[in-house]
Amino acid sequence: MVEEFLMAYLDRELGLWTRLRFKFHLLICSDCTNYLQEYKNTIALGNRLFNSPDEIAVNKVPDEILQAIINVVKTD
Ligand SMILES: [Zn+2]
Repeated sequence: MVEEFLMAYLDRELGLWTRLRFKFHLLICSDCTNYLQEYKNTIALGNRLFNSPDEIAVNKVPDEILQAIINVVKTD
């Protein structure tokens, strides 16, 4: 769920308000900003190393970002 959300965020597939709310959270939360950065790096690395996205190993999702995403999504 988190990965789908982040993927949609990075691909700009989220609704405008959902994206803005998440962006706003990133401004005030360095944990999520760091995780998103790590996630982007992992994907960039994965794209170079593997052909299949299934093989990309993403670090364990912190509860913090999970909670943030739930909050952003549920108010939509
Ligand atoms: Zn956060």
